[in-house]
Amino acid sequence: MRDRLSTEQLAKFKRGHDVGILAQKLFPGGVDLSPESPLKYDKAIQQTAKHIKKKTPVIFEAAFQYNGVLAALDILVFKENGWYAYEVKSSLSISHTFLLDASLQYYVIRNSGVELKEFNIIYVNESYVKNDNLELSLLFNIENVTTQVRNNEEFVNSKVEIFKKVVSGYKEPDIDIGEHCDIPYTCDYKGYCWNKIPAKGSVFSLDKLSKKERFELYKYSLVKINSIPDSYPLSNEVRFQINLYKKKKIWNDDLKFAQFISRVKYPVCIIHIAVNNPAIPLFPGNRPYQQLPFAAGILYQKSENDKPKYSYFIDEPINDPTFHCLEFLTEHSTGSKSIIVFSDIKEWSCFDCIHTISDKKEILNNIKEKTINLYEPFTNLYHYNPKIGFDYKIENIIKSISENGLSRTIIKNDTELSDAYAQLRTDTDIFRISEIKANIEDYIKVATDYDYQILKYLESKLE
Ligand code: SF4
Repeated sequence: MRDRLSTEQLAKFKRGHDVGILAQKLFPGGVDLSPESPLKYDKAIQQTAKHIKKKTPVIFEAAFQYNGVLAALDILVFKENGWYAYEVKSSLSISHTFLLDASLQYYVIRNSGVELKEFNIIYVNESYVKNDNLELSLLFNIENVTTQVRNNEEFVNSKVEIFKKVVSGYKEPDIDIGEHCDIPYTCDYKGYCWNKIPAKGSVFSLDKLSKKERFELYKYSLVKINSIPDSYPLSNEVRFQINLYKKKKIWNDDLKFAQFISRVKYPVCIIHIAVNNPAIPLFPGNRPYQQLPFAAGILYQKSENDKPKYSYFIDEPINDPTFHCLEFLTEHSTGSKSIIVFSDIKEWSCFDCIHTISDKKEILNNIKEKTINLYEPFTNLYHYNPKIGFDYKIENIIKSISENGLSRTIIKNDTELSDAYAQLRTDTDIFRISEIKANIEDYIKVATDYDYQILKYLESKLE
């Protein structure tokens, strides 16, 4: 019943694990009690108890159990006057969810017999800038949240009792789907609970509806777009989207679509950039989660019917690629009147860090001024195609408009692409490195071609 973990979720877990391992270095010489598998926590609990008895100064992955609840703690430290708990988060701030996690850990640890002097959360310092070496004491913030987790004790206690009843029951709880399915994280059972919602044509596919409005309609059993009565109060924008859906044919907002296409001036450059944003800064001058444009593809087309010329860039993973990537873009886009991208996030944000350097700033502004984002006509509803619907993911658009459908590549998505870059930095086998580089190149080439296909598709739809 449980959903398989997505590549994105696995990448998130790996990032959390990597940051946790790095934070352990703040407390050198610790004993690592990580179990070999999640099924072997019993042994970790026993070992933790032994080390606590011995007052081992630093324990990594200490495990505790109380009242049927298991808690693992990243770092437990014994100082002169008692035990100090540290939980590591790879985020840039402490969320309410983290405080609740910490409150549960505190509840289990304290009630299992270990009195904690302090409970701390270690998280990544957003304003840290890397020097030649990582300075861990500056990279991480350590915040004492003991008061908050103590104040939550009653709340945790009551919730534990409720959840114990839920997991020991024979029937699944009678709770319908709702906004809670994605708060604070997407639930692992979404595939099971949501399979009653049609993949296409449901109110959940209307991106102009707020989440709240979608569930209001659902509450009235108005799940299919076609079932929404004309009298139901909705904004003009949503009503417009519903009408488009009901038309079931290709439609253009003649004026806005024509204005959009008229901005495309030849020669054009279609650009696709691969970005990696590591939690831990890789190169001097980098901040945590700074975007690094490590590879790029460019298709240069002189005029509408000319054969486009492809160029490719990948930087060696020993350098900050930002400047080299910008140089590549500048060199290969010279002479182009329009720069074409397809992106649902702010274009060129990966170059934000060089805004302060005046000559680069000018180059970047020049690129920005010429940029046309092909995402715009879809999301602003200048153009509608029932095959695409309102799902503007690039794969869905290509599947809907291309005769050949999607191309097969070893790397399947941007998360895997980012992982491949991380592997390039750590792998030492030259054959493996060249294989990874070839996989990245394949992926970028296909992605750039997808952007080109979308441009050609949109141009062909101008009547
Ligand atoms: S209703 Fe939502 S939150 Fe509850 S189990 Fe199903 S998907 Fe998860």
